[in-house]
Amino acid sequence: MVDPALGLARELARAVRDERVIRAIAAVPRERFVPPGERARAYENVALPIGCGQTISQPLVVARMLSLLALSAGDRVLDVGTGSGWHAALLGLLAGEVWTIERHRDLSESAAARLRRLRLRNVHCVVGDGWEGLPGHAPFDAINVAAATGARIPPALIAQLAPGGRLVAPVGGEDAQRLVLARRTPTGVRVRRLEPVRFVPLVRGAPG
Ligand code: SAH
Repeated sequence: MVDPALGLARELARAVRDERVIRAIAAVPRERFVPPGERARAYENVALPIGCGQTISQPLVVARMLSLLALSAGDRVLDVGTGSGWHAALLGLLAGEVWTIERHRDLSESAAARLRRLRLRNVHCVVGDGWEGLPGHAPFDAINVAAATGARIPPALIAQLAPGGRLVAPVGGEDAQRLVLARRTPTGVRVRRLEPVRFVPLVRGAPG
């Protein structure tokens, strides 16, 4: 039988031609990042519920975002919206050091436990408001935002990009989002609007 993670990776490889990303997806068992009742669907190319009204993102979109970030082994990365921790685990395989921030403590703690079990010691889970980024660990070579930011990219995140740093985020409201790729250049920040996507919203402040 084909390893199910490898099966998913092969399916995604037809759309995202980035060998490092595809290898990372084949190496992380997504079934460990979904609730027991969703395990049968863990290797389908779909978003799945993970509790607290949130979802683990669709694999194809995650692969695309990882590819756009063009990560190197030494990169320092900020991940906004830890959720299950799957996207953070993949960032951990592709980069040097990853800080992943989540506003729901329950989700953050479950993600941290999964990452520990997979021995991904370079991924650090933080509970807080990702809208503000993590100024204490900035600057970042790459910033991944896994929740829709509304009309604009949070200014604090742009401010925390290192020279040459890349940021990928779904920008827009509930149902008109596009993936946006921003890059800090010597003269400013270059922003490219890409394809439509659908993410849960980035919510400011602590959970009520
Ligand atoms: N990357 C995740 C899926 C992200 S879903 C995975 O691999 O499973 C988006 C997540 O962003 C949710 O868990 C939600 O609680 C979180 N979130 C929303 N607003 C946030 C904020 N302001 N700061 C931190 N996390 C936030």
